[in-house]
Amino acid sequence: MLEIVPFTLGPAMTNAYLVADSTTKEAAVIDPAWDGDVILAEAQKHGWRIAHLWYTHAHFDHIGGAAAIADALNQTPLVALHPADQPLWRAQGGAPLFGFKIDPGPEPTIDLVNGQVLHLGEVAFQVRHTPGHTPGLCSFYVPTESVCFCGDLIFRDSVGRTDLPGGDWGTLLDSIHKQIFTLPDETRLLSGHGLETTVGEEKRSNPFLGGM
Ligand SMILES: [Zn+2]
Ligand SMILES: [Zn+2]
Repeated sequence: MLEIVPFTLGPAMTNAYLVADSTTKEAAVIDPAWDGDVILAEAQKHGWRIAHLWYTHAHFDHIGGAAAIADALNQTPLVALHPADQPLWRAQGGAPLFGFKIDPGPEPTIDLVNGQVLHLGEVAFQVRHTPGHTPGLCSFYVPTESVCFCGDLIFRDSVGRTDLPGGDWGTLLDSIHKQIFTLPDETRLLSGHGLETTVGEEKRSNPFLGGM
């Protein structure tokens, strides 16, 4: 069974998700936003072993805690990122643009691909390439748990900004309609910022997507 511990961390109040298979105790961090020590302490409390860092995208506020986590582990975690966000990762996730400086941590060595399946113990995560906020943004959908981690693609009553380098409004809308609104209505959306929502709720009420 999948366990999910959410955190809201860092200067942009970014959501990080510590996810673990309760059977094998293998854990991953989806967007180790900031304060890696806080995420680590929670994993230790449960006896979970963090083996993976999975990035929805490379913005600095989503990866700022990676170095602290990796440095504290005996084995370097496997870092997964879509290759289209590699240039952004190399540019510290755009941190200098916002007056920040971060240690981006270990280099991503797993290239995410649309349709790929990531395994955490018994739990399968489908990778959905959902660009628009950044060129490489990916969502991670777990059909058995009816949950989708969607980064800064879509938020409760809002959507990701497209005015940063690599952003594109038409592409963002296309990603939401093709990759998110095709999921069952009851699917929980766990976003990069703000409160959780569902696919059905956003279809009905997201003002940026034709709802009211
Ligand atoms: Zn972002
Ligand atoms: Zn963000």
